[in-house]
Amino acid sequence: MTARFPFDNSYARLPAPCFTRQRPQCVPDPRLVAVNRPLAARLGIALPDDPAELALIFSGNALPNGADPLAQAYAGHQFGGWSPQLGDGRAILLGEVLAPDGARFDIQLKGSGRTAYSRMGDGKAWLGPVLREYIVSEAMAALRIPTSRALAAVTTGEIVLRERPLPGAVLTRVASSHIRIGTFQYLAARRDITALQALCDHTIARHYPTAQGPAGLLDAVIGAQARLIAQWMGVGFIHGVMNTDNMTLSGETIDYGPCAFMDAYHPDRVFSSIDQFGRYAYANQPQIAVWNLAQLATALLPLIADRDAGIDAFTQAINGFSDRFDAAWHGVLRAKLGLATEAPGDAELALELLARMAEARADFTRVFRALSGPDPRRARDECIDPTALDPWLARWQARIDTEGRDEAQRIRAMQATNPARIPRNHRIEQTIEAATKGDFSPFAQLMAALAHPFDDDAHLATYEAAPAEGEAITATFCGT
Ligand code: AMP
Ligand code: MG
Repeated sequence: MTARFPFDNSYARLPAPCFTRQRPQCVPDPRLVAVNRPLAARLGIALPDDPAELALIFSGNALPNGADPLAQAYAGHQFGGWSPQLGDGRAILLGEVLAPDGARFDIQLKGSGRTAYSRMGDGKAWLGPVLREYIVSEAMAALRIPTSRALAAVTTGEIVLRERPLPGAVLTRVASSHIRIGTFQYLAARRDITALQALCDHTIARHYPTAQGPAGLLDAVIGAQARLIAQWMGVGFIHGVMNTDNMTLSGETIDYGPCAFMDAYHPDRVFSSIDQFGRYAYANQPQIAVWNLAQLATALLPLIADRDAGIDAFTQAINGFSDRFDAAWHGVLRAKLGLATEAPGDAELALELLARMAEARADFTRVFRALSGPDPRRARDECIDPTALDPWLARWQARIDTEGRDEAQRIRAMQATNPARIPRNHRIEQTIEAATKGDFSPFAQLMAALAHPFDDDAHLATYEAAPAEGEAITATFCGT
């Protein structure tokens, strides 16, 4: 059986400056590492059984029928500094598929060789970041948080030169689109209003068909990003590189580079080794989103006939982020605390817990999971001083009692909100280390452990444990 992808490539019909056509580079010895068959089925993609055939497709050596490969152009603010020309330097969009339910998805190869936007880079990826993105994006999807997905991973048989020679790999990434704030910035900076208008219309039709013009698009993206970042923070996720080129219009998480789920909670936590000033720290993420969305507003402004009115309206929309984020975040926190209703003081109650957790260096995931069990006092065991949580536990219990909710029901709801398992950094690193030596079984085991993160499973306790002394990873490196 040959592969069948239901391609319909709408991005390739946008004006010329939006992309450059480019075929993936052939690789010497492609081998399949993983293929996500449930995702393929959801996308309406029919795949052969033969791993060798799959490796040819997902390395880019064999193009599926109907592919129209291209590299997308974009610009972006990286750590606040403007780069007028970024673009897919190591990624190629094979095309878009229309899933059986009509939903449209990009199919992209990441690590498939140089493009018009590679600048000094080699266009390649090594196995480490490919596995990291595979693991974390699929874990994010299992946590029900909007994200790009991983359809496949292959090794290429090539050696990629980084700090040392490393095995080359290609990730097949799926997203509802890869349109970024930086995509709009690219066209706005070139003052190509025709292309900018076409991109705006394309994005609205694709993601927010009821939105009215650029103002409606901006409003919808602000809402989607406010909800997304609240959801990230609800699972202790730090994106790590919230540059404007890594922020989507769809409101999906993309570009998993030096990202991480926190172990011990601290609001100033940073993982990226290049983020020296904590710009993208855990608790800074909402402010950074505002900054990025303001860049989107600036890029959309040339599409507004009455510029002054446009500035006023966009400023108001951007200023509205904070309330929309707070509403989403407080909703996330209430759910994490098992509150079905909203009462004055709920946000303070939740923030008080986070403050105690920071002091107690308590593990973010484990505290909330413990609170979700039949004996919430087990959360005390996560603190360096177990009595640190006692006054808070009493306040929380009193608030829970005001709801008079059935306890079993509350526990079920909390367990469906507070995961038992997240992709812990030390586990990911162990997986990558083993895979680099040719052993992919830890990768398969980790993927299985993360597939149902809300279910209790005594066999998976090792994946629920916080890193032991010496095991904790404090920095992750750029995903190149
Ligand atoms: P990132 O920080 O991973 O979001 O990437 C920022 C920019 O650098 C994007 O334009 C990437 O396409 C480009 N880039 C990253 N790694 C490579 C590479 N190995 N070769 C070419 N371009 C790259
Ligand atoms: Mg990027």
